[in-house]
Amino acid sequence: MADRTPLPTGSTIGILGGGQLGRMLAMAASQLGYRCIGYAPAGDNVASDVCADFFENGWGDTAALSAFASRCDVVTWEFENVPLSAVQTIPGHLLAAKPKALEIAQDRLNEKRFVEELGAICAPYMRVESDEDFARALERVGAPGILKTARDGYDGKGQWWIASAHEAEGVRFPGRPCIYEGMVSFETEFSVILARASDGTTRIWDSSANTHDGGMLVKSVIPANTIVESQVEAARKIAQKTADALGYVGVLTLEFFATRSGPVFNEMAPRVHNSGHWTIEGAATSQFENHIRAICGLPLGGTETRFASIDMRNIVGEDALNAHAILEESGEPHLHLYGKREARTGRKMGHVTRVSHEKSPNEHS
Ligand code: AMP
Repeated sequence: MADRTPLPTGSTIGILGGGQLGRMLAMAASQLGYRCIGYAPAGDNVASDVCADFFENGWGDTAALSAFASRCDVVTWEFENVPLSAVQTIPGHLLAAKPKALEIAQDRLNEKRFVEELGAICAPYMRVESDEDFARALERVGAPGILKTARDGYDGKGQWWIASAHEAEGVRFPGRPCIYEGMVSFETEFSVILARASDGTTRIWDSSANTHDGGMLVKSVIPANTIVESQVEAARKIAQKTADALGYVGVLTLEFFATRSGPVFNEMAPRVHNSGHWTIEGAATSQFENHIRAICGLPLGGTETRFASIDMRNIVGEDALNAHAILEESGEPHLHLYGKREARTGRKMGHVTRVSHEKSPNEHS
């Protein structure tokens, strides 16, 4: 992609998707003098609270997508499951990144193959499209393992954890294309988050140690640990190659397991990422601002970490109802609530970032 001429102040950014990532992108964009218009099907679109305008229309509504696009100077997405057909309705010159990034990230099989070809190591996996495939995958890959729907899974949804061959007897092929992958015995999970400009300039943030529960991120901690530090260079090379191979523009995230034999690639997200929320207060430039800078043709900002220790935790479900109490804590915690109307169990409602100039991180439980 040719270098993008900087978009002047007052230009309009279109965001496909209406969740908290879109909300935080729009907040960063407004600081740089841009206005955002969102597009997502009707729902609790919390990005709409901070966008200048918002289209609540279906992904199949080509007339609405065209009307949306006609008002935008550049279009990006905050959600990797935006249907490709919707993205392809947007004129190509408006898209910040090529739809190929979405096409690959929307399918776990494509994603693993693509990144493996660039040199990444993945857990053993097999495609599962029938009960017979599932039986074969269990035999070849073995248990423990995880059956995952190839498409549309997020935050641990569309996954069946299988501890033993015996347990697998109770699990049926769910009728949608899946992959079955071996359980990775890892020390820590970490992600590589980078921002790439249209001229190929890339900035990479420090990698946090990420903890998940039931497939959903619970916390990200900086500094990570010596295992991650010893593997991050290799993981960064893979992430850089992936971004270059896609001619990607914006923020791209790759998730890894740090294992005894090196980094094992898990999945990628062609967007800003939950494990990068700490960058808002913790880095010289946040992931949200650098995404906006990249897609608008502005110079990328520095990604250096500004504190000795950082701890970002998600606020999930009903915990959000008492979250303002966090503001009474010492140490000036940074509270972010996304304004979701319904605090459903397991729903990401906000996050809190605690930063410190002290080296040893305070443990907050
Ligand atoms: P995913 O949706 O693939 O990102 O999975 C969500 C979380 O489930 C990951 O961040 C891990 O904590 C866990 N997980 C997924 N796949 C594996 C695996 N093959 N081995 C061990 N843990 C996994």
